[in-house]
Amino acid sequence: MKFLILSRLSTLYSTRRLVQEITSLGHEPLIVNPESPEETAEILIPRLGNFRYEESLANLEKLQNTSGAKVTLNAMPFFHQARHKKRAHEILGTLPQPKIFNEVTTFPVVVKDCLSSQGEGVFLCKNHNELSDCLMKLQGREVLFQEFIAESQGHDIRAFVIGQNVVASMERSSTNPLIEFRSNLSLGGTAKSVTLTAEEQDLCIAAVHRLGLDYAGVDLVRSHRGGLILEVNPCPGLEGIEKCSQKNIAKEIVLYAESLCRSHSQR
Ligand code: ADP
Repeated sequence: MKFLILSRLSTLYSTRRLVQEITSLGHEPLIVNPESPEETAEILIPRLGNFRYEESLANLEKLQNTSGAKVTLNAMPFFHQARHKKRAHEILGTLPQPKIFNEVTTFPVVVKDCLSSQGEGVFLCKNHNELSDCLMKLQGREVLFQEFIAESQGHDIRAFVIGQNVVASMERSSTNPLIEFRSNLSLGGTAKSVTLTAEEQDLCIAAVHRLGLDYAGVDLVRSHRGGLILEVNPCPGLEGIEKCSQKNIAKEIVLYAESLCRSHSQR
């Protein structure tokens, strides 16, 4: 089968790993820049980052219609509705999540750029001054205001879901919870493996399916009222989770795509 990976950089760890596993399972990988897709393939895997995101999304949608692909792992519009934090919050609906507010009445409050990733557009504001500084920085961006889960203390859980299963999970901790509440590995956070309860696993799987995704990295915080979903990432990095879990996650993704493609062909 021919796999098309939409990725800006072939040297990125996740892109390289997918190519390796596609090849070792006897398939044909091709990497295309998300801006210039004019190809045919049976399986599409969009790995879209922040750079020229809107343009890449439009091209993904076009490719879904023109490439003849039977399977897109995290197709449009599902990819985008998961990436957009406010939209995702609405779709996740009754699943447990931190509350979001239309306006700020209490502090501290978490302010997020709706399309941020890797923690870069996520801020904790303790008072009105910090809030106005933050809103200045985020001028022109769509933002959301969210309840701060203080008891998570700089920790969160990344669960990697493929299809119906949580295939790996890790707990991420910020460098110093007193000064940094974000636990993203890209901001220097550290990871160790963690076991999820059956309830937490069910929650992560339910979140991925409610958003219409095939696989995702689900971020969860443990709060006084149980696990709360922070985000469901439709383009999760593979490096941290493979290194922490010592599992071949790229291979699991490729095998899953292969099985979806086979069952599509049998229909
Ligand atoms: P991004 O998609 O940019 O990584 P997240 O919403 O996942 O943004 O937030 C980044 C990190 O900040 C999370 O992994 C978590 O450690 C911390 N965080 C985010 N929201 C909250 C919150 N409401 N309460 C406590 N910590 C939070």
